[in-house]
Amino acid sequence: MTQILPSRYLFGPGPTNPYPEATAALGYPLLGHLDPDFLQRLDNTCEGLRQAWGTANARTLPLSGTGSLGMEAAFVNTVTHGDVAVIAVNGLFGERMCDVAARCGATVIRVDHDFGQPIDPERVAAAHPNPKVIAAVHAETSTGVLSDIKTLGTLKGDALLIVDAVTSIGGSELRADDWGIDVGYAGTQKCLGVAPGLAPFTISDHAFDRRIEKPQSWYLDLGLLGGYLGDTGGGRTYHHTAPVAMVASLEAALDRILAEGLENAWQRHRSAGLQLQSGLQSMGLELFAAEGYRLPQLTTVNVPEGVDSAKVRQYLLRNFDLEIGGGVGKYAATVWRIGLMGPNASNSSVTLILGALEAAIKNAS
Ligand SMILES: *Cc1c(COP(=O)(O)O)cnc(C)c1O
Repeated sequence: MTQILPSRYLFGPGPTNPYPEATAALGYPLLGHLDPDFLQRLDNTCEGLRQAWGTANARTLPLSGTGSLGMEAAFVNTVTHGDVAVIAVNGLFGERMCDVAARCGATVIRVDHDFGQPIDPERVAAAHPNPKVIAAVHAETSTGVLSDIKTLGTLKGDALLIVDAVTSIGGSELRADDWGIDVGYAGTQKCLGVAPGLAPFTISDHAFDRRIEKPQSWYLDLGLLGGYLGDTGGGRTYHHTAPVAMVASLEAALDRILAEGLENAWQRHRSAGLQLQSGLQSMGLELFAAEGYRLPQLTTVNVPEGVDSAKVRQYLLRNFDLEIGGGVGKYAATVWRIGLMGPNASNSSVTLILGALEAAIKNAS
């Protein structure tokens, strides 16, 4: 039998607590995936995503899968055997990009940076004279670092710029067209404040024209997705069954974010993040990410000497129903990751976390 567990404060890297509008929409009556009312909902969702991305790209849509599926779609449609992909790596998700691009057959030129540091656009752009694509993560959730995509865009030359905006969309300034992003993918469960399950995706006409004609993946072939998008002139046709409940949820969250104002949502994330970071430092804790490049929506903290990271996290869960994340890879036990995403980017969340963490460090170690 299904057990209903108490609701948690999800202050990890994701999923975050959804916006109430997004949760309510999951209970709407289900529509058929070709019902005209659903198609209107999908159109409205794509339009909301254009605004969230800062793009006029016709091909902007929620792909049916999580953020990593968006990553797969970005590479499988742009690189194949013989193509060079320059990939900036400053955390787990840059590493994942290298793996995905290599599986597509690309020759991967990996430009490594210390974890906790932003990418260096000049070094990335200088790594190869003529790559097919250059790829970078805007907001590295594994380390809590924001990188300068705008500068990378000015240096990309003829390469297509692929950007991972999974954690930045809806939480940090993001301007795909102004910054020269050719292909972008994101996720719903971070600052958009929706459950995990869709990958907001955008591709420029220029990148679409330079895509791989018949990519290895049928499901992710953007040429075939034309019918799903309704951009082939003949109206929408069946490609795969749209996850209609998730689309309704994403639409509701986008409506809510756009009513608040995108820039106001960015500012709300910024102010909550700065408040959390200064509160943690006042408690004597050290932040992991480089100063000046810290993500407000995902704060990385060094676990203090002599404190058992896992015990503290378990204490938070059992005593406060509050989840924070551990570190990634070799930082698993030495870094905490605290997310303030979507509706959690608020002063009251900061107060709750700081009080709970102080108690947990005192009582759990
Ligand atoms: C969460 C995340 C992903 C992966 O998304 P999934 O929804 O877990 O597949 C990719 N990139 C970044 C930067 C992320 O934060």
